[in-house]
Amino acid sequence: MTGVGWDVGLDWPGFAPLHGDMTADACVVGLGASGLAAVEAFADYGMTVVAVDAGRVAGGAAGRNGGFLIAGPEDPLHLAIERWGECAVDLYRATLDELRTLAERYGPAVVRPVGSIRLAGLPGEPRDEAEAADRDAELADCARQVVALNAHGIAVEEYDGPLGRGLFLPDDAATNPAIRATLIARDAAMRDRLCENTRVLEVGRGRVLTEHGTISAGAVVVAVDGRLDVLLPQLRDRVRTARLQMLATDAVPPRLPCPVYGRWGYDYAQQLDDGRLFVGGGRDRFLDDEWTSESHPTEPVQAYIETVARRMADRPVTVTHRWAASVGFTEDGRPLCTRIADGVVAVGGYNGTGNLVGPVAARAAVDWIVDGTPPPAYLST
Ligand SMILES: Cc1cc2nc3c(=O)[nH]c(=O)nc-3n(C[C@H](O)[C@H](O)[C@H](O)COP(=O)(O)OP(=O)(O)OC[C@H]3O[C@@H](n4cnc5c(N)ncnc54)[C@H](O)[C@@H]3O)c2cc1C
Repeated sequence: MTGVGWDVGLDWPGFAPLHGDMTADACVVGLGASGLAAVEAFADYGMTVVAVDAGRVAGGAAGRNGGFLIAGPEDPLHLAIERWGECAVDLYRATLDELRTLAERYGPAVVRPVGSIRLAGLPGEPRDEAEAADRDAELADCARQVVALNAHGIAVEEYDGPLGRGLFLPDDAATNPAIRATLIARDAAMRDRLCENTRVLEVGRGRVLTEHGTISAGAVVVAVDGRLDVLLPQLRDRVRTARLQMLATDAVPPRLPCPVYGRWGYDYAQQLDDGRLFVGGGRDRFLDDEWTSESHPTEPVQAYIETVARRMADRPVTVTHRWAASVGFTEDGRPLCTRIADGVVAVGGYNGTGNLVGPVAARAAVDWIVDGTPPPAYLST
C-alpha cells in the first residue's frame, strides 16, 4: 500500500529539476506551503525567485497532513499565553488573517469553512477509569481555553453532541493539503522558477549549493520544517525532527461535520464529503520511536491509528492508504524564524501545526530580509 489519500486523482505534471547554475534576487528552499508563501512574498516585493525542493511540491508534510486549518499556536491559547505571553494572541490573529486570505483567493476548492471540534477524549464511552479521568481533565482544560478565547474576542462555542463534549471553533477550516499546495505552486510557476527533485546540500550567504548547480541570490529563505536540523545542523539544539503518521479509509457514513481532534489534540480526523476518513495521531504513545527523521509508516503506530479511526467512524473501517512525514518541534513551542547568515533566514519548527503558522513565519522571514522588519515576538529568532 503506497501513496497518500490526498492526491488520489490529482493531475500534477511536475517541474523540471534545476539545470546548472542560476542567479536570482531570492532563493527559497522547500516547496511546502511555507516555502510557497515565501516565494509569493518575494514576488510581491518585485523580486525574481528561484525555489527548489528535494522532492516534489508538497511531497513533505505540507501535502501529507491532516488538512486542519486551525488558527493559533500548537498549544491552546491559554497555555500559549502562559508560555510566551500575550504575543500568542498576535499569532492567533495572524493565522486567522492567513486563513482569510487563503479563502478569499482560492475559495471552497481549497478552504472548507466548516470550523473544527476540540473533543475532550475520543468519541464513545471511556474504555477504563484512566480514560474517564483524562477526559474530565481535558474538559476542564477546554473551559480554560474558552475563557482565554472569550477574553480576546475570538469565537468559540461549547460542543456537546454525538461525538462527545468539547469545543467548536467556528473560524477554523479544512483543506485537502495536496490540492492547496499544488494550486499555489501552479500560480507561482507562472512568475517564478520552481524546481523539483533538486536537493540542497549547503546554504550560505548569497549562495545555495544544490545537487544540480548553484543558485546565487542575495536573499535566501530556508522553509524546511521537518529535517531542518539535517540541512542546517547548527539548529540542532533548537529544533528536533519527529515523524507523524496518518491513514485514509474507504468511505463510511457521514459522522464528522468538520476536522475533529481529541485526547489533547494527539489524535485527529477529517471526513471528506465523499465519506473517506483521514486519521492520524498516537505520537505521544510511541514517543521514543517517533523522534526520527525517517518518514515511513510503522505497524504499531498504524495499528493504534486504526483504533482511533474506528472510534471516529463508530464502525469498522477499511484502510486504503498509510503514510508518514517529518515535522520540526521546538523546546518552547515557538516556531523559528532565525538568521543563518547575512540575507539568509530559516523558518520551521511548527510543532505539528504548520498549515497556517508556516506561511506566517515565511512571510515574516521575507519582510525581515527585504525591508528589515523584525519578526514578531511569537517567532523565535
Ligand atoms: C501526518 C501529519 C499531520 C499533520 N496535520 C496537520 C494539520 O492537520 N494541520 C496543521 O496545521 N499542520 C499539520 N501538520 C504539520 C504540517 O504539515 C507542517 O507543519 C507543514 O506542512 C510544514 O510545512 P512546510 O512547508 O514548512 O514544510 P514541509 O511541508 O515539511 O516542506 C518542506 C519541504 O522541504 C523539502 N526539503 C527538505 N530538505 C531539503 C533539502 N535539503 N533540499 C531541498 N528541499 C528540501 C522537503 O522535500 C519538503 O517538500 C501535520 C504533519 C504531519 C506529518
